[in-house]
Amino acid sequence: MPEGDTIHRAARKIHTALAGRELQVADAPNPRSPIHNRSGELAGATLERAEARGKHLLLHFSGDRVIHSHLGMNGRWFVRADGRLPHGKPWLVLASGRAVASQSGGKILRLVSASRARNDPLLLQLGPDPLRPEFDPEAAAARVLTYAPSATIGEALNDQSLIAGIGNVIRIEALFLPGVSPWRRVGDLSEEEARKIVEAASWVMETSMKRGSRPKQIYGRSRAPCPRCGGRIRVHGQGDENRVTFWCEGCQR
Ligand SMILES: [Zn+2]
Repeated sequence: MPEGDTIHRAARKIHTALAGRELQVADAPNPRSPIHNRSGELAGATLERAEARGKHLLLHFSGDRVIHSHLGMNGRWFVRADGRLPHGKPWLVLASGRAVASQSGGKILRLVSASRARNDPLLLQLGPDPLRPEFDPEAAAARVLTYAPSATIGEALNDQSLIAGIGNVIRIEALFLPGVSPWRRVGDLSEEEARKIVEAASWVMETSMKRGSRPKQIYGRSRAPCPRCGGRIRVHGQGDENRVTFWCEGCQR
């Protein structure tokens, strides 16, 4: 499932493939695409910059136009340098020469003005993103400690307004690494624990960017023993969205 690292990786690939180039193809062939009738507005535009903010992707084009995308649970970006188009009818295809970027599925796909993107309430409410250069881990740890004290830390990390880009795998691993239970209340966390959780989330995301896959120790491994203490990995739904949560009762307190 796409998390912040997935989106930063897509932004990097799209930027490398298409930035500074005039679009020769801007098409939204799938009738389900939210911009099915509007992709022509991008014809001849030049991609100036691709950036990720948490799980949101922004493509900034010449002429004050911005593509704002969020993949949700099932969307996907394909980026290729060999001119090959993906199968089926994508929601958006952008191409120049042999470089092709396309999105299929997703939760958000909009074509908006730069000022509308700047003032988008969804983007304005995002918390700091560990993969952005301005990220300040100490400020993020302080932010964790000011979150609703009665919320569990497992639920709090799902909230994109706390820290942006953390999805289910990253939050599970970021709590396993420092040995904090997802069921602990935010109000019971120490400063050190908050700092370690933020550091662990950043480490998982940065490592994923370097390796191309997330380092996973317990996510999806409820049948295997805990890699640290050999105990049982528990699994249970958590929060309003009942997100599947893995933890070790032996080493996460
Ligand atoms: Zn354990």
